[in-house]
Amino acid sequence: MSKLRTSQKKRPAQGVPMLSVQPKGKQKGCAGCNRKIKDRYLLKALDKYWHEDCLKCACCDCRLGEVGSTLYTKANLILCRRDYLRLFGTTGNCAACSKLIPAFEMVMRARDNVYHLDCFACQLCNQRFCVGDKFFLKNNMILCQMDYEEGQLNGTFDSQVQ
Ligand SMILES: [Zn+2]
Ligand SMILES: [Zn+2]
Ligand SMILES: [Zn+2]
Ligand SMILES: [Zn+2]
Repeated sequence: MSKLRTSQKKRPAQGVPMLSVQPKGKQKGCAGCNRKIKDRYLLKALDKYWHEDCLKCACCDCRLGEVGSTLYTKANLILCRRDYLRLFGTTGNCAACSKLIPAFEMVMRARDNVYHLDCFACQLCNQRFCVGDKFFLKNNMILCQMDYEEGQLNGTFDSQVQ
């Protein structure tokens, strides 16, 4: 009998850790606590054996042995999907400096654009914005109210408003 395969490609994740029955013979040691696994069931992940309680996310301590959960590893950490994405995923490219923004960084959003906190400033006069300040997005540039209005007066921008 052959197993069904999903066609997902290039997943960074390891396969789902499967609950398996203790193989006959020598008891396996747990890769988490180094003690022998005496339970009837154990988890097999990353080519190691684990107590059900020992295979946990390094960040939030959630159990990764639940059926259907996916295990991510990076830099010797075992992580759940949520923490992996938070730590190692990316939010996108900063619309101002076009560098990648790591997912854990605070960002500013304006329409479909994301910005580093440091990059979110008027691109003409470099004024930073505080909560509640007005800013304008024109020709994909962030502008303070003053520069925006000045640009409108001088006809620097195309006529289409916002
Ligand atoms: Zn253990
Ligand atoms: Zn977690
Ligand atoms: Zn940036
Ligand atoms: Zn300005």
